[in-house]
Amino acid sequence: MNDILEAVSSGIKDSKHAVVFTGAGISAECGIPTYRGKDGLWKKYDPNLYASIGYFLQDPSYYWNFFREVRYPMLQKAKPGKGHLALAEMETFGRIKTVITQNIDGLHQEAGSSSVIELHGTTRVIYCMSCSQKYSMDDVFVMLKDTCPPLCPECQGKLRPAVIFFGETLNPQILRVAFEEAEQCDFLLVVGSSLVVYPAAEIPMRAKKNNATLVIINKEQTALDSEADGVIHEEAGRILPQIVRNLKES
Ligand code: NAD
Repeated sequence: MNDILEAVSSGIKDSKHAVVFTGAGISAECGIPTYRGKDGLWKKYDPNLYASIGYFLQDPSYYWNFFREVRYPMLQKAKPGKGHLALAEMETFGRIKTVITQNIDGLHQEAGSSSVIELHGTTRVIYCMSCSQKYSMDDVFVMLKDTCPPLCPECQGKLRPAVIFFGETLNPQILRVAFEEAEQCDFLLVVGSSLVVYPAAEIPMRAKKNNATLVIINKEQTALDSEADGVIHEEAGRILPQIVRNLKES
């Protein structure tokens, strides 16, 4: 283990443009369950009802009840984990340029990362589908005490979270910037993603095609382990702080 950690740390240290790509696994340590897997959220909640744009437009009360009972309390409690904090520290001392994340929980920014590309949006911003006025999760949680589904106080329009629902396409500008980062980087570190969700999982392949070193830190096997230059099947919160320590010592 020490050898591979040393090699990964030196790879990051010697890189000119290191990028990190994260998924639900890094936040699992903060009490936010992944979607799939044995304790995954979709074992309990049907994604067709709670996370698809079709059903949200038909009956948004499912999503808002889920937000009130599950999503909001979970995010209220969650604090950035050791993995998030380690990545923020790596950015501070100039070792990584950008975090591209599939997560919608805002924990990278809360940890102090400033260059974050959120491919699937964020649950922390809610906006009116008519006038585009933005609201915080706290504002909407208060509104939900009176009305579910909540309506825009400005124009009575329907509110929605700034996330990409199933059935929606990713924001093309955000995806373009993420692909550019993947193509420019010379080191791509994947953390806590099964790498099965497309097109996001294309990020590592784009990096690889442009000759970047690809390292994956994930508790279980991923769809792209065989493509990687290094794979560590461990918890992000255990490994990333060790990499920070190595970088500081070198
Ligand atoms: P995924 O659920 O497909 O895979 C998560 C991976 O993380 C699994 O392979 C698991 O083995 C691994 N893992 C679990 N705990 C870990 C840990 N402590 N350290 C390292 N690895 C760990 O998640 P995905 O690849 O991100 O794709 C699923 C989709 O789910 C994404 O679109 C994302 O938007 C969404 N999602 C986001 C959140 C969040 O915002 N926190 C939570 C659940 C799902």
